[in-house]
This record gives sequence, C-alpha cells and structure tokens, in this order.
Amino acid sequence: MGRSIGYTICTVRWPGRGSDYFGPCERCGKSMSETAVFETHTLGVNAEGDIYLSAPSGGVYAHMECVSHEGEKFVSKDSLQRKGPLRIYPRSALVADLERTGINAADAERIVSERLQEPLNAELTGANGLPLGSG
Ligand SMILES: [Zn+2]
Repeated sequence: MGRSIGYTICTVRWPGRGSDYFGPCERCGKSMSETAVFETHTLGVNAEGDIYLSAPSGGVYAHMECVSHEGEKFVSKDSLQRKGPLRIYPRSALVADLERTGINAADAERIVSERLQEPLNAELTGANGLPLGSG
C-alpha cells in the first residue's frame, strides 16, 4: 500500500525478442532484431519509505536509437532493485532528476524529503485506482 508522490519516470527494457514477436519499430517502421520497450511509470512511496514504480503505461516498441534522440531520460528497468513485487527507484536518482531541471542540490533534497514525508491519506493507490505492480 502506498501513494503517488507526483513524479513520473520513463523506463526502457529489452524483452529479448524482435520484430518476429513485436512487429516493426513504432518509430521508423523497419524490422528490429531486438525490440526496446519504453514505458512511463508514476512513482509512489510505501509505508517503509521505498520509492516504487507503479504499473506502466504508454508502452512504445521501437529501436533504442529511434527513441533515444527524443531527449527523454530513460531508466533501464533491469537496473532497478526489486523488493517483492515492486521495482524500487533510488531516492538519490529522484534527487538527481530534480537537479537536472535546474533545482539546486539542497532544494532537491528538501523537496524529495517533503514528498516522502507527507502523511498517507486519500491518495492511497487502492483508493484512486492507481494499480501497484512491477510491469
Ligand atoms: Zn526504428
């Protein structure tokens, strides 16, 4: 059980199959020997203070090189630690994400702390329909 903290991240994973299974690249339309899957996740925090990825949305199946130039930062999903059914996003990574938007390090730390320490309330994921899951 947890609640959204109001941030989203983009992830990439490699399921190990290509166009024979997933069809052509959704960006260039060409065949792929290995498909990269790009997804968006809302971040949540649970009672233990772990930042976790909600179930994914917006899957794009494409060549890595066809999407990587679009300027978004993609987190390798396989690099994220698992905790039970959850994928954990490191707090330090969230702070770094905020710093990349021009926020200084001290403010980024403070903002993340505030987001994580807000009491559990009506934003509980079960209550607003945001499913838990690792994707
Ligand atoms: Zn492509």
